[in-house]
Formats: sequence, C-alpha cells, structure tokens
Amino acid sequence: MAKRAIQYGIGINSLGFRLTAIYVTLAAMCLALATIPFLSEHSVSDTVLHMKMAIAGLIATAILMALMSRRVTGPIRQLTDVARKVADGNLDANVPVDCSCEIGGLGASMRTMVSRLQASTTEIRQLANHDLITGLPNRHRFQTLLERQTGFVDADGAPASGSVFFIDVIDLRKVNDRFGHETSDQLFKMIASLLVEASPCNGHGANLRNSGSDKAVREPVLARFGGTELVLSVPGLTDPDGIASVAKRLHAALAGGVKASGRQFHPAIAIGIARYPQDSASATKVKQYAALACNNSMALSDAEKTALFQPWMLEVLKSRETMERDLRTAIADGQFEVYYQPKVSALDWTVTGVEALVRLNHPERGVVGPGEFIEIAEMTGLIGDIGLIVLEEAVSQCAEWHRAGQSTEVSINVSIEQFKNAEFANLVIAILKEHQCPADLITIEITETIAHTNITGVADHIKALRAVGVRIAIDDFGTGYSNLAQLTGLKFDILKVDRSFVSGIDSEGKAREVSRSIIQLGKNLGCRVVVEGTETPGQVAAAAQLGCDEIQGFFFSKPMKRCDFDAWKDLRTRNPVQDTFHRAVAGGGLMQVPAAQDRLAAS
Ligand code: C2E
Ligand code: MG
Ligand code: MG
Repeated sequence: MAKRAIQYGIGINSLGFRLTAIYVTLAAMCLALATIPFLSEHSVSDTVLHMKMAIAGLIATAILMALMSRRVTGPIRQLTDVARKVADGNLDANVPVDCSCEIGGLGASMRTMVSRLQASTTEIRQLANHDLITGLPNRHRFQTLLERQTGFVDADGAPASGSVFFIDVIDLRKVNDRFGHETSDQLFKMIASLLVEASPCNGHGANLRNSGSDKAVREPVLARFGGTELVLSVPGLTDPDGIASVAKRLHAALAGGVKASGRQFHPAIAIGIARYPQDSASATKVKQYAALACNNSMALSDAEKTALFQPWMLEVLKSRETMERDLRTAIADGQFEVYYQPKVSALDWTVTGVEALVRLNHPERGVVGPGEFIEIAEMTGLIGDIGLIVLEEAVSQCAEWHRAGQSTEVSINVSIEQFKNAEFANLVIAILKEHQCPADLITIEITETIAHTNITGVADHIKALRAVGVRIAIDDFGTGYSNLAQLTGLKFDILKVDRSFVSGIDSEGKAREVSRSIIQLGKNLGCRVVVEGTETPGQVAAAAQLGCDEIQGFFFSKPMKRCDFDAWKDLRTRNPVQDTFHRAVAGGGLMQVPAAQDRLAAS
C-alpha cells in the first residue's frame, strides 16, 4: 500500500494557528482579570459596552497576529518547498527568501548549501565519467556515447556509420615497472594529449565535457579505455583511406618522442579499427572488434602497427578459445607428454644431455607441438600448470636415468609467466628433492626476454637455483635484442645460439661471422655454448669449427618420446660413430657425411 505523504503546517498543525491561539487565550485571560474589578465600580450597561470593545479589540489583534505569523510561516513554507526540490535532485532551484531576520539567515545558509551541492555533484559526475589522469571521458562514458552514435539515425532515416580506433600504448607497462607509476601516468597523460591534438577530436570541446547532445553525437570522441588503452570514435568515417590517414596522424603524433618526469621516452602505439555498421551495428561489438584488430596489429613487424578488423580475426580468436578449452581438458586428463631432443658434444659427438620439449596428445588432432599452445597457455595463465607437469616429468625422468647409471643432463624450458611466481625457485628445488634428482643434472632454459625483463625476482630465482647447483641457460640467444649490460649482470651458465643464425653458418658471409661473434661472446662470458637447429652435416661441422661446445638439431635427431630416446641412445652407444664422423668433418668432406641417423640405422 502506498504510504500517504504527511502534510505539514495544515489546520491546527499550522504554526500561525498555534501562535494565534496562544495569543487569544492569553489575551482573553488578561481581559477577564482586568474586567473583574471593573464590574463592582460600573453599571451593567457600561460593563457590557466595555466588554464589547474589549472583545472587538481582541478580535482585531487576533487577526493582526494571524497576519503577522503568516509573515513568519510564509518564508518557512518557501524554504520547505526549495528543500523538497533539492531532495528531488533539482539543484537549480532558486532560494527566494532574502530578509534580515533569522529566516533570512536560514535562506542564505540554504543558498550556500545548494551551490556547494551543485559543485560537488558536478565533480562527482566528472569523476564518474572521466579518467582522473588524462581528464578524457572514461570507458563507461565512451560506451554511452558510442551507443548513441551507433544508434543515431539522421533526418533522412539513414543508419549511423563511423569507425572506432582502439589504441594501445606499447610497452607502457615496462615504463611502469622500471620508473614507477608516477612516471608512467605522466607519460600516458602526455601521450593522450598529443593524440587528442592529432585526432579529429581536436577543436571539438565535446571531447572533454561531452554533453551527449545531438550535436555531440556526431562529434569524434577520444576516451581512456583502461590501463594502457585509449579508444577513439569517429562518426561518419568509414573509407579505408580516411581511416589510414587518421591512424597515420596518430602514429606521427608520437614520432618526436615524449618527455615525462624529466625523461625522454619514445612511445609507440598499436591501432586496431572496426567500422559500423559494416562490421557490426552494436557499439559493444564494434569496440570488441577494434580491440581484436589492435591485438592483431601487435604481431605486425611494421613500425606503425595498424590493422583494420577482418572477419578472419574472429576465426583465429575462436580457434584460440578452442585451444584454451583443449588445454584445460589436457591438464585435467593428463594429455601432455614430454619429448626429448639430444644434445651432442662438439668435441667427441657423445650425447651430453637432452632438451625436454612438451607435446599435447590431442584425442582428435594427434600430437600438437608447443608452437601452437605455449602462447595461449601464457595468456590464459595455464602455463603454470603445464610447466609444473613438464617439470615433474622431466625431473623424474632425469632421476630415473641417474638411478640406472645413465646420467643425462636435462634442460627444461621455462616461460616468463612461471618466473613471475614468487615461489618458482622453491618449487623447482622441492621437485628435485622429491625425486632425489641431482640438481647439477638439471638446466633451466629461459629466453633472453626473461633475462632482461625487470620482473622482481628473476635474479633471485636464478640465484636460488644456481645456489643448489641447477644450471641456467639463455635460450634463443640473439633474437631478443639483448641489452648486454643487463645480461652480463645476470649469472648464467649456458648460452644457446638461436637457430635462425644456423641457416647460413656453413658458408662464408655475415651469418657465419655473427654466429662466430655470438659463440665467442658466450665463451668470453664463461658459458658453455650450444648451437641449436643444425639440420645438415655442413651446419654441424661449421658450428663445431666455430668453437661451440654442444650441438642440437634434426641432423642428430628430432625430439623423441622417452622410450625412443632410450633406444636411440642405446644404438648410438653400441655403434660409436664419432671417429668416422670427426674425420669427415675435419677433412672437409662435409657434404659427403651421411646423416648420423642414417649411419646408425644402417649399422
Ligand atoms: P626451444 O626451446 O628453442 O626448442 C627448440 C625447438 O627447435 C624445438 O621445437 C625443436 O623441435 C626445434 N628444433 C630443434 N632442432 C631443430 C632443427 O634442426 N630444425 C628445426 N626446424 N627445428 C629444430 P618445439 O619442440 O616445437 O618447441 C618450440 C618452442 O616451444 C621451444 O623452443 C620452447 O621455446 C617452447 N617450449 C617447448 N617445450 C616447452 C615447455 O615445456 N615449456 C615452455 N615454457 N616452453 C616450451
Ligand atoms: Mg629451449
Ligand atoms: Mg631455443
């Protein structure tokens, strides 16, 4: 049942009525007291006349009193009215009471209160709709505006069209890690203001205080989407040339570098663009497609990373989602298997160890290589579980070989995401203990990227692992644009030259010279150097001649299941090939050397 609103100041509840009643009662009592002595001294007719006059006076003053009390209650009623309007959210209500009595003071206080309320409401609205750092509209505001823009139908009934640019500031997180929040916020603010200037928003006041009016609906707007991301909506722009020129201007805005917190930075952005209505008429989807295109643009090698949304991007996304589901099932159902690829000594061609390489035994697709799922596992956080499965399996295998008197060094690949776990080193040490595996038989392979990423704890993990005897290898060396100063600051034991250098290693030229320098660099740092990816005898011979310590590659063997590796090693041990092979390499008859597997198989 609806609650009835209380009516204040009506009838006997009215202040005016009550004041008048009190006055009349008091006056009547005074009149009665004054009349009693009068009765004994005067005649009845005089007394009646006297009383009539007194009553008339009483009525006249009661009316006067009622009128006067109205002067008091009137402004109170007005103030009550204003308070009610303010309570209903009408902050533009005028406070009309302006007199010098106490009620005037109340009116003035109310005016101050309303204007303060107006100011703080404006501020709250500003905070709710705008980003504190850049002052740009925030994601929530952008969504509202974009919904209006995509749903806008012009006077001719034509549906709205336009484009959404999703902009990600690349490597801003690294600035944050290295120089702290204040610097990265400052940098982001500067970047945002340069992008506003370069974008079609420049000159449109609507961008900062977008009112949502019909005019604003047709104006471009740049907003902060989230951490390192901005979004730009440009109504009316759909032709690819126009879009490309806006993207070019945005990239160019940062080309001169940006100064923040007294430092010079050279930020870059990745841009993804989706259009409405052709990609989708839904604001949420267009934004999502632009973000997807932006993600795809990250993979481009171009300095100005820009990608226009294409439907195949959705297909890739779907297959990634399928892969994520498959990975979860594989973890639960134990579908991962570790393969082993041998490493061979460049001095005497004996097997020095193996690299553990994970495979997914998919029930329908068969054996799936890590190239298809490691990145997805890293993005989805599943790499922790997969890494643990590999660690357990590889360490237990290493311990088993050791117990069987076949000690074999095992290298295990570790992803950057695993290194972010503060307990990573302790976990490895616990697994070694659990399987009673000698730590010096285990090598942890990290990429150059991990080595020079400023993740707190990388150096600590390395230190803790090396302290118990685990070796650290820098994998794929030469691909990560290593900062040598940072690399030399880290302690590691093995350097693996990336296989991209191997293709030209067996002929005179730059590739060979670069490989020679890398091998030399590793040696100078006191490391064992492994050359991986050798497929031909020529590459094997060249790697050995350039002075590396160990060689890994399809020439010797592809990664194998553990039982195949045991058989392969057994065969190789029973039929040593080192002498013939070594003579062939040293004698220069490289190309005539048959593949080791062939020779083994033939023997
Ligand atoms: P990686 O650590 O550099 O491993 C060497 C890769 O090169 C392996 O590919 C191996 O099969 C391949 N390879 C070795 N010799 C040759 C050769 O002569 N020719 C050619 N064409 N390829 C050769 P795979 O097994 O597909 O692994 C790819 C990458 O996946 C690995 O590169 C590693 O970065 C990653 N990975 C593998 N297993 C794991 C794992 O358990 N954890 C993590 N985090 N990453 C792993
Ligand atoms: Mg590796
Ligand atoms: Mg490698």
